[in-house]
Amino acid sequence: MSVHYQAIVIGTGQAGPPLAKRLTAAGMTVAIIERGLFGGTCVNTGCIPTKAMVASAHAARLASRAAEYGVVMSPPVTVDMKQVKARKDAISGQSNKSVESGLRNLANCTIYQGHARFESANEVSVGDLRLTAGKIFINVGARAVIPSISGLDQVPYLTNSSMMHLDSLPRHLIIVGGSYIGLEFGQMFRRFGSQVTIIETGQRLIAREDEDVSSAILDILQREGIEVRLGTKCKSFARQGDESIVSMDTAGANSEIRGSHVLLAVGRRPNTDDLGLDKAGVAVDAHGYIQVDDQLRTNVPGIWAMGDCNGKGGFTHTSYNDFEIVAANLLDDPLGDQPRKVSDRIPAYALYIDPPLGRAGMNETQARATKRKVLKGLRPMTKVGRAVEKGETLGFMKVLIDADSQRIMGAAILGTGGDEAIHSILDVMYADRPYTVIQRAMHIHPTVSELIPTMLGELRPLQ
Ligand SMILES: Cc1cc2nc3c(=O)[nH]c(=O)nc-3n(C[C@H](O)[C@H](O)[C@H](O)COP(=O)(O)OP(=O)(O)OC[C@H]3O[C@@H](n4cnc5c(N)ncnc54)[C@H](O)[C@@H]3O)c2cc1C
Repeated sequence: MSVHYQAIVIGTGQAGPPLAKRLTAAGMTVAIIERGLFGGTCVNTGCIPTKAMVASAHAARLASRAAEYGVVMSPPVTVDMKQVKARKDAISGQSNKSVESGLRNLANCTIYQGHARFESANEVSVGDLRLTAGKIFINVGARAVIPSISGLDQVPYLTNSSMMHLDSLPRHLIIVGGSYIGLEFGQMFRRFGSQVTIIETGQRLIAREDEDVSSAILDILQREGIEVRLGTKCKSFARQGDESIVSMDTAGANSEIRGSHVLLAVGRRPNTDDLGLDKAGVAVDAHGYIQVDDQLRTNVPGIWAMGDCNGKGGFTHTSYNDFEIVAANLLDDPLGDQPRKVSDRIPAYALYIDPPLGRAGMNETQARATKRKVLKGLRPMTKVGRAVEKGETLGFMKVLIDADSQRIMGAAILGTGGDEAIHSILDVMYADRPYTVIQRAMHIHPTVSELIPTMLGELRPLQ
């Protein structure tokens, strides 16, 4: 027997639930299917819990620096990991419940809890049930890559998901992967009190950023006592007693380290391998990402893919933006006169180490590749009053300008408040206005943002 709906949504990540809300509000009957936790990665194992833990780590760090601010505390500062986890669970649990109750209270929306699999282009099975619909929206997200390295199966390794269950302090946390997820976990656990080693195959951390950003971040982490092994490949793993042993190769030189815990943070892969996409005829690329056009339509009419599974973003805000694009084109402007498009969005994201990195648009390498005349503004955080007052002067901000059009091409703010201050630049980029608009705007003192106009007044040609 099959049940017919006007729309089926697979997955309750950042795009599925708001879309279900919009579709039902437009009078459609909707089935939404979730095999795991309501709210998906961001809510349960990604942004929300990790940023709650970053906040605990920040408190630990400030407490350990209290004397610098004239605050007397009895040393040593200790961290109660059970309480850190309880706080994180409460914050993330609240979001998870709110996604679930939001869906349960939606009229004309039926929730199915189980694994969804395509049976054809308009039919999806959940266990023994068959659901059909003319419109199917895929929002199945991604999961941690488990690399194939000899002996890894002998080691009780962790991923971003299992890290969420830790309620005791690892003595020595070895992190494989020096990109966004690895760095956030690395710094927070160092601040909680673990010894931390990060192993990265590349010659620098977060290689998609400019070299000056990578090296400033390396400096920030090393100052806190994190050991970073760059240009290093993990060759094999072994377990001895309660220790995991990692054998490594750094430019031909072999070495090994022993740690109490191993975290794998070497990338994400889309949850598309067990979705029966072949039965629906939906095309994926070589990495399993669902291929979509600029409006997030797959090659099969009536099937859309949103969020991490389409390879177009990889962030909560890109997934939510996918929902906005699909909903607008389907419901607000169904004839497609003014379709919203993925290509209209400007890349923007943050790395939540402390201080954070806020990014918008191009980096220097990308700006150079345009072959346009590029101007660069640069200001160290030591010359930002707000940072000095807060005692957080590590990092810098920089901006790249197209000299002819005066448009901002990109910016990076690595420094206190960088995740927020970047938005004044991002919004002017969206407005497609010249950088002089920011330069002439009166900003509030004392803030990090107030120095953005000053930086824009000191532009030099990009070397
Ligand atoms: C540690 C970590 C930190 C992060 N921090 C940030 C951050 O600070 N900022 C940011 O913007 N992004 C961050 N991200 C990325 C962000 O979490 C994701 O990009 C975001 O959650 C978007 O996910 P989504 O909507 O594509 O799907 P997801 O949230 O992954 O949800 C997909 C859902 O689909 C369900 N599902 C999968 N397959 C099936 C199936 N066959 N049947 C039924 N249900 C299925 C899953 O159970 C899941 O609930 C972080 C990620 C990680 C791992």
